[in-house]
Amino acid sequence: MTTLIESEEHQALRKAVSALGKRYGRDYITQVIAEGRYPTELWQDAAKLGYLGVNLPEEYGGGGGGIAELSIVLEELGASGAPLLMLVVSPAICGTVIARFGTEDQKRTWLPGLADGTKLMAFGITEPDAGSNSHRITTTARRDGDDWLLTGRKVFISGVDHADAVLIVGRTEDARTGKLKPCLFIVPRDAEGFSRSPINMELSAAEKQWELVLDDVRLPADALVGDEDAGLLQLFAGLNPERVMTAAFAIGMGRYAVGKALEYARERTVWKTPIGAHQAIAHPLAQAHVDLELARLMMQKAALLYDAGDDIGAGEAANMAKYAAGEACVRAVDQAVHTLGGNGLTREFGLASLIIGARVARIAPVSREMILNYISHQTLGLPKSY
Ligand SMILES: Cc1cc2nc3c(=O)[nH]c(=O)nc-3n(C[C@H](O)[C@H](O)[C@H](O)COP(=O)(O)OP(=O)(O)OC[C@H]3O[C@@H](n4cnc5c(N)ncnc54)[C@H](O)[C@@H]3O)c2cc1C
Repeated sequence: MTTLIESEEHQALRKAVSALGKRYGRDYITQVIAEGRYPTELWQDAAKLGYLGVNLPEEYGGGGGGIAELSIVLEELGASGAPLLMLVVSPAICGTVIARFGTEDQKRTWLPGLADGTKLMAFGITEPDAGSNSHRITTTARRDGDDWLLTGRKVFISGVDHADAVLIVGRTEDARTGKLKPCLFIVPRDAEGFSRSPINMELSAAEKQWELVLDDVRLPADALVGDEDAGLLQLFAGLNPERVMTAAFAIGMGRYAVGKALEYARERTVWKTPIGAHQAIAHPLAQAHVDLELARLMMQKAALLYDAGDDIGAGEAANMAKYAAGEACVRAVDQAVHTLGGNGLTREFGLASLIIGARVARIAPVSREMILNYISHQTLGLPKSY
């Protein structure tokens, strides 16, 4: 079987998710944003249909699929104008890490809820003084008897207000060498010493970003996910799905924007023919379509490698997919807005706010430049400047 052609199951999933997305559509998300709330109805419907946990193991209530299936869910919801950003975080990062490295107890506590939508988990790695340099994070866990005490700060953490817990990337001190090792902790939303404040973003999205302060947050021994000595490996097991899912988010948004532009370009007539007949309008939209298709191909490759257990191969492909999708999305949205002329900037057509939304995929979870650095060093063997 060639993997370049989507299986019938995947095509059927795409169609079914698309139908759900269209039932809600952009108007629903716009209303949710205006009301300052979470898209709970869509989240719950997606859960009921098995989409939220499609990548999680069946024995814990999931669909037994992989990131390939979950990325289809996010892409199709996005293409209908109703993306669910927390899919990138809750089932893709947190669900994957717990399913792969969690204890039996952690799996039973979290996975069924993440799959049926009754539990939501956020993910926090970014710190104000570390940014793209995640080796510099300073959130530190100290042992206190059997417990852990976690102290540090995080920024730009999405969806914390609706999450039951945050999977926090911290560090522990190696007792022998004194070196800091990355570790993952499940921090309940209401833990003492754990506070949050919203960051004022220009973004028009249902999910808010938060600054977190962890001030000697006391956690039981079993808040640690996985092995204290294999933190980096476990972290990357979650970050590759995050990149694939960000690609899905970007491709979905790009497709939505191009779709809106096409509708407009077929109808709007200011000379003799609809504006879509002018090549200056048609070609950039055709180009945007090609770029989005190419990005999707790389996303599918990354998902396939990841689901096949090739973490190293998936790492490179997931970075490339995230890069390609982020760039394709930014260009697609820009061209879509331009196609609508003045209407591209009106609330009624709702495209202008995507200009900022599209930029998210360029900067997060890893910026365009850091991906080019990774490809330069890891793939091409060039020396480092930093
Ligand atoms: C909407 C949104 C949601 C987010 N959600 C989450 C979340 O849920 N959880 C989470 O942990 N984080 C989240 N983030 C954070 C995101 O992952 C970071 O913003 C991102 O990793 C970049 O870090 P930074 O903002 O500190 O930029 P910086 O690291 O300060 O980078 C600033 C600029 O410098 C460039 N730069 C830095 N180093 C180099 C270099 N060596 N070579 C070339 N260029 C370089 C970068 O590419 C970038 O353009 C979110 C961010 C946004 C915008």
